[in-house]
Amino acid sequence: MAWRSSGVTLAELVDNLAGHGMIPNERVKQAFLSVDRAHYAPRNPYQDAPQSIGHGVTISAPHMHAMAVKHLGEFVIGGSQGRRVLDVGSGSGYLTHILAELVGDNGEVVGVEHIPALCEQAKHNMEKSDEGRQLLASGKVKFVVGDGRLGDSSSTDTFDAIHVGASAATLPQALVDQLRSPGRMFIPINDEDDSEGNQSVWTIDKAADGTVTKTRLFGVRYVPLTDAPR
Ligand code: SAH
Repeated sequence: MAWRSSGVTLAELVDNLAGHGMIPNERVKQAFLSVDRAHYAPRNPYQDAPQSIGHGVTISAPHMHAMAVKHLGEFVIGGSQGRRVLDVGSGSGYLTHILAELVGDNGEVVGVEHIPALCEQAKHNMEKSDEGRQLLASGKVKFVVGDGRLGDSSSTDTFDAIHVGASAATLPQALVDQLRSPGRMFIPINDEDDSEGNQSVWTIDKAADGTVTKTRLFGVRYVPLTDAPR
C-alpha cells in the first residue's frame, strides 16, 4: 500500500488517502486537513512516504498515520467526553497533533519520545500553527521525554488508546497495564521469526471486563523501539 496516495498539496494527499479507504469518516478527514504536514516533514510533505527527520528517525508515511487512526477508531474520537491517548515514539509530533484534533472536549494526548532533541522539535513543529500553539498552551498536548516501553511515567492515569510508532521486540506489559477497560492499542511488533526484520501491526483490545485480545493486522516496516541512544 506504500506510496500510493501522494499528492502535490495537502488536500490532494488527503483526498487520495480517502479514495484508498484509509480515512474512515469526515471527522477524521477534517482532522488530517487541519494539520499541515509541511510543519512536521521537512521535505516532500505531501508524498505518501516516510521522511528522515534526523537522529536516524523517520516521520512515518501518511498512509500509516491514517491506518493507525482508522484502526484506533472510537478509542481516539471523543465527543463531549474526551479521549485520553498516548502516542509512544512521538517523533515529529505530527500524529500527536492529529490525535489532539480528534480527542474531543477535555481530551488529552501525551507524546512520549526518548530522544530529547526530537521532543523539542515536536513542540517547535506544533508551534508553527495557532492551533498547535493553543494545544500546547492549554495542556491538551504534552510531550514527555522517556522510554515509551514503560508508557507515561509522568502520571498514573490510564489511556483509552495507545499508539506505538516504532516496532517493539515484544508487547510491553506496562503499555497493556496503562490501557483502560475498554481500550485499544495499535502497535507494530517484530514477528516471532524476525530474522528478516519482518514486523506486523497488531491491535490489542482490552474489553470492559479486562480481557485482552490480540489481532494481527498486516506486515509493516517501522524503526525499532529501542534503548535511548547515548
Ligand atoms: N510517530 C512519529 C515517529 C515515528 S519514528 C512520526 O511519525 O513522526 C519512531 C519514533 O520512536 C522515533 O522518534 C524514535 O526516537 C522513537 N523511539 C524509539 N524507541 C523509543 C523508546 N524506547 N521510547 C520512546 N521513543 C522511542
